[in-house]
Parts: sequence; C-alpha cells; structure tokens
Amino acid sequence: MVERGVNVPQSYRLVRRDARAERTIVRLSSGATFGGDEIAICAGPCGVESREQLDQAAAAVAAAGANVLRGGAYKPRSSPYSFQGLGEEGLKMLRESGDRHGLGVVTEVLDPRDVEKVSRYADMLQIGTRNMQNFPLLREVGAARVPVLLKRGLSATVQEWLLAAEYVMLGGNESVVLCERGVRSFDPATRNLLDIAVVPLLEGMTHLPVIVDPSHAMGIARLVPPTAVASIAAGAHGLLIEVHPDPANALSDGAQSLDCEQFAELMRRLALVAEFVGRRLPQRVKPSAARANGQRKADGAVRSSKSGVRLA
Ligand code: PEP
Ligand code: MN
Repeated sequence: MVERGVNVPQSYRLVRRDARAERTIVRLSSGATFGGDEIAICAGPCGVESREQLDQAAAAVAAAGANVLRGGAYKPRSSPYSFQGLGEEGLKMLRESGDRHGLGVVTEVLDPRDVEKVSRYADMLQIGTRNMQNFPLLREVGAARVPVLLKRGLSATVQEWLLAAEYVMLGGNESVVLCERGVRSFDPATRNLLDIAVVPLLEGMTHLPVIVDPSHAMGIARLVPPTAVASIAAGAHGLLIEVHPDPANALSDGAQSLDCEQFAELMRRLALVAEFVGRRLPQRVKPSAARANGQRKADGAVRSSKSGVRLA
C-alpha cells in the first residue's frame, strides 16, 4: 500500500490501517478511552517521589479535568546516581491516588520481569523511549492483558516504531497507543524535536491511536502549552503532560513540568481547541461512582483481564 508517498510494508500485518475495518479505540479499565471523540489527558509528575507529592498532583490534575494519572515508579535515568524511583511502593501510591481521585493509572515498566507486578497496579503499561526496541520487553507486554503506551524511540523512524507496535500486537495485546515524545536532533535548543507531522501521517498508516507528550519533547515548561494545543489541533487522540506541585524541587524533569495552576490554565485552552477539531475533553466519572461500580479495589489488587480494545 502506498499512502501519501509513504511505503507501508506488508510486514505491518497487524498495525497497518487497512488491517482493521475501523480505527482501534483503546479503553482502560478506569473507563478512559484513546482513539474516539474523547481526548485522553494523562497528567502527573515525572516520578513518584512521596505520597504527598503524588496525591497533590493527582488531586490537581483530576480537578482540572485529566482522566489518567501518570508517574514513574521505575525511572530510566541517564545517570545511575540519579533518583531511580520508589519501585513497588510507588506503584501502590499510584493505585491509591488514582482510585481516590477517579483517575486511571499509566506508569513505565522497564524490565520484562516486572511486567506482571506493574500490571497488578496500573491500568496502562508505558514503554519508554529508551526501550522502544527492547524486544523481550515488547514480547512480555504483548502477552499482558493491560493496554500499552508505546513511546517513540529517541531516534526511531516511523517504520521502526510501527514494527515495535507490531511486536506487541503479535503477542496478542491489541490495546496499543503510540506516543510521540520528540526525537533527537542536531539542535539542543529544545530537549528534543517534536514531530507533530507524525500525527496526521500515522492516521493514514495505522488504525492505532496516537497521543503526544510535549513535556519530554520540549524540556522547557513554557513551551509545553503551545505544543500541547498544536498537537490536539493536528489530530492527536490525547496528551501526556508532566505536572508537579513544586517543579523547582522535583527530583526529575522539573524544568519541563507545569505547576498545578499552569496545568489548569492549559486545560481551559485545550477545551476550546478540542471543540474546534470536533473532539472533547474527558467526561470524568466521579470517584465514588467508579468505586460503587466495583471497577477497582482500593488496595490495588489484580483487576479484570479484559483486552481493553473496542472497535469503533
Ligand atoms: C517519562 O515519561 O517520564 C519518560 C521517562 O519518558 P521518555 O521515555 O519519553 O523519556
Ligand atoms: Mn519525565
């Protein structure tokens, strides 16, 4: 198939646009969806640092209208001397704050041996940019029954990225969301170079939803709101945004993190641009209603193993 000059090889058997009659909508067990008319807003700190820090961020992003809480419990840091994350304690905090504020939970899994454990707490497994071609990890999350957020590799081509998604789907996990987070460029003026064009490009190449992470793309908090707005205008199905109650004292990625008020202001702008492109911000379920429906146990016990995919 040739799509706007881009060759889509036969090897994209499962991810290619024409492999499905309809676009995939990935649904988390919390109810959040990626790929439909409703935009998914994943927000929270880069790393889970403490119960207080995480819960303040969760309360603020929920109040502003986000529907998924992000936060790393296992952090892939360039230096082995940097904060590495709180591990399973961090996972428990994510589950508790997610439940308390009616948010789904997305968090990174670094090691194939941790996939089962992270799946017990999270609604979505994040594969970070440094692991996009960690094939044993891709196979392991492919065998999991929890949706996967697959970030684009540091300097991955679109072809390599789609083939990484193919690995996950080949394992039987059809709930894959692609996340553009900027690629390495010649210019250090921004942390990475945000490839917004990839959003409409992928729309013609794959049935999978695509979201954008402007925080890791920019590395500078001031540049996050305009690029978030541009991503939704370009057709992204969601955003991943770093929000910290006290960015100046964050243990990781403080320079690119919005504070709670800046995030609330961004959400007001996003509501307008979403409407402009025929989409809407999340319609959140009240936490008490979610708990009453038995969607979740407060202690983060194993949840349903539904595939999470609905075809539109
Ligand atoms: C993150 O989301 O905090 C993260 C480490 O992202 P990336 O893998 O895109 O660098
Ligand atoms: Mn980060």
